[in-house]
Order: sequence, then structure tokens, then C-alpha cells
Amino acid sequence: MTALPNTDQASARLAGLSYLNPAAPEPWASFVEQIERVRPHLGALERWIETLKHPKRTLIVDVPIERDDGTIAHYEGYRVQHNLSRGPGKGGIRFHPAVTLNEVMALAGWMTVKNAAVGLPFGGAKGGIRVDPSSVSKGELQRITRRFTSEIGIIIGPDRDIPAPDVGTNEMTMAVMMDTFSMNRGGTATGVVTGKPIALGGSLGRKEATGRGVFIAAREAGRHLKLPIEGARVVVQGFGNVGGIGARLFHEAGAKVIAVADHTATLVNEAGIDIPAALAHVAATGGLAGFGGAASIDIEDFWQLACDFLVPAALEGQITEARANGIRAKVVVEGANGPTTPAADDILRERGILVVPDVLANAGGVTVSYFEWVQDFSSFFWTEDEINARLERIMVSAFDAIWQVAADKRISLRTAAFVIACHRVLEARAERGLYP
Ligand code: GLU
Repeated sequence: MTALPNTDQASARLAGLSYLNPAAPEPWASFVEQIERVRPHLGALERWIETLKHPKRTLIVDVPIERDDGTIAHYEGYRVQHNLSRGPGKGGIRFHPAVTLNEVMALAGWMTVKNAAVGLPFGGAKGGIRVDPSSVSKGELQRITRRFTSEIGIIIGPDRDIPAPDVGTNEMTMAVMMDTFSMNRGGTATGVVTGKPIALGGSLGRKEATGRGVFIAAREAGRHLKLPIEGARVVVQGFGNVGGIGARLFHEAGAKVIAVADHTATLVNEAGIDIPAALAHVAATGGLAGFGGAASIDIEDFWQLACDFLVPAALEGQITEARANGIRAKVVVEGANGPTTPAADDILRERGILVVPDVLANAGGVTVSYFEWVQDFSSFFWTEDEINARLERIMVSAFDAIWQVAADKRISLRTAAFVIACHRVLEARAERGLYP
């Protein structure tokens, strides 16, 4: 009889395939816990709740490329369609070295809830590649993107599932994805992805939309709490497309952004950071490191800065139980997806800190993605003013509806957003019925 492999040998055999080596932390467990909190509020629809704990379709793909030095490299790629009850899948593609299946499942689930919470006619999906885009050349990145798009091409499409940018991807990634899908199909399909360059059917205002939505959500929370943006102290973690643009809008509205952080630096200036100068520095150098207009601060001290609005706009799992106890903000506005663990969420609530949840606060991006998709279908394009006015209307009415449910049921804004969203998704599920 052959001896069973010892643990080291076993993990060596699995090495390189992260989905066979599940490791903590597990955002999917957080998502499932958030769904469970909705159970008492579902009434007859509770019968269908398991639907939300079972991603509809999960595709794992191998993405092999020939590197510039002639070697062959393999990357893990994913596309998860969490739920398609209300329409085609919709959600971004993340390029990050730590992407896991578990994480993409959670991100897809949050898209289902987000799209339903603001009333967009989409299901929820998410994708990702386990790659550090800064570790490969431009040509290599393009080959990775093209092969990945081709591999997931069997489940995406303008009326099936529509990717968009997320962490580590941008409008150029979307241009390459659109081109690859179109080449395989034999005709240009602009509506297969959103967040494209304007010249390829992209929408005015899309790039700024997530940051703009975060700002609107903060402003509305401030309106309810009588906490005006003008003069408010703001702390922002993440200085990319969400945090950077959010910080700029706070700054333009007269708030004082006292601290910012990205993967290169954590900076504070109690007098207020010159945000346009910080953005110019990042555009020139690629990160906040070396920016002269603020002092370096320890990351744990950053989380404890006294402020009015704290905006986590980086990755999930940042506000842990330990950090939640030290936070001295009045409002947390989640620019990132899943930045607060459920246990930390409870601590913030007990401490009287209002949390504007990700599925509402960062919904501006996918809302303008919806506008882009509609414009592509009709080949009729709107002005930036029209787009921003429609974004404003959707964000404000979603905020008001969620605020009302939270007040009526005495639940958090997160659970209220989940209640509204899960009702919409499960009602569609129930009315469609099970096949066969
Ligand atoms: N990645 C963004 C999000 O998490 C945008 C998704 C989209 O536009 O489809 O909401």
C-alpha cells in the first residue's frame, strides 16, 4: 500500500492553485452572515433564502501566457455569477496577487445586493485574476487580459454578464476585453463591458462615478445627522479611483481631508491636505510615497484619528474588531467592498458610529455602468450633466428608502439595504419559479 502523502507533500501538490488551499480571511463567510441577518425580515420569501448562499455559476479558468523572457506562466482566473434572477450578471474584474475564489464569490454576492438595493436591472457577478499587474510588462498584461476574456467568453456577453473595472483594472483593460470578445464574435460588441474609454462607447462621468457616489452618500448621511460636509474632517484609506476622486470631491465641497493612505504611504496633516497636489503627485509617481504636503503616520494611529467621515476605499476586511474599538469617526462611508467585518460592524453600531454600507455608498460606479450599457444598446449618448443628474437622483432615492427601512425596523443601514435588495431578488426568484 502506498503511504499517504504527508501534509507538506500534499500542500506541495496543491501549491499554485489557491482554490485548493483555502486560507483565512474568508469574505464569503462575512457575506453569508450578512444574508443571515435578513432572515427575520423576509416573511414568506424566507423559503428562498438559500438561493443567496449558493452562487449560481462559478467558472475557474487557467490563463497561460508566454512571458517576455520565453518562459510560460499560468495565472488563476475567475468569473462568478452569483445571481441572475433580475437580469444579466454585472460586476467588475479585479487584478490582484491575492485574489481568491472565496473573495470573488463574496464580491459577486455584494454586487447582487448592490444592484438590487439601488434598483438596477442586473444580477450580480465578479471576476478576477491572481496577478500583480505591476509585476508584468504591458505586453504580458495584454496577453493575460486577452486570454482571460477568451476563456470567460463562454459565459459573458451584453445580455448575459457584463464586466467592468475594479481594483487593478481600468479603462484600458476594458478596451482590450471589448476588443477580444468582439474579435471572437466577429462583430463589435461595445455593451459587453462597461468602464470603457469614451471613444469605444464609454460613458461620460463613469470614471468619477464611484467617488461621486461615495461623496453623495456621505453628504446624505451628514444631512440626516446635521453634520455638514463644509468644514468636516475627513480620513480616506485608498487613493485610487474611488478614494482619490472621493477625496477631491470632499475637498472641493469645503471639507478638510486630514489623512490619506495608499499601498505606498499613510499620511496626515491636521491642517488639511492639499488634495489636488496629492493627486498630481500620484499621477506623476504612481503613489503617495514622497508627497511633501503631509507627515507619515503609523497605520494603526491612522485608524484612530478623530474625524467626522472615515472612508475606507481600499480592500475588504480592513475594519476588524480590534480597529473598530479605536475608531473615532462619526460616520464610516464604505467606498471599498466589504471593508468592515460583521463583528466590527456590531461594535461600530454599539458605539453609535453610523456605517453607510458599501452596497449603497459605492453603488455610483455600477449605476453609471448601467447608464453606459443603456447608451451602448441605443447608440445614443448623454451629456455629463444628464448623467450626473440621473446618478444623483438614484443615489438619493436609494439612500432615503434604505434610511426609512432602517428607522422603521430599528436595524443598521447595511441590514436595511440587504432587506430591500433581498426582497427584490427573492421576489424575482419566486415569481420565475424553479426550472425544471
Ligand atoms: N467594480 C465596481 C463595483 O464594485 C463597479 C462594477 C460595475 O460597474 O459593474 O461596484
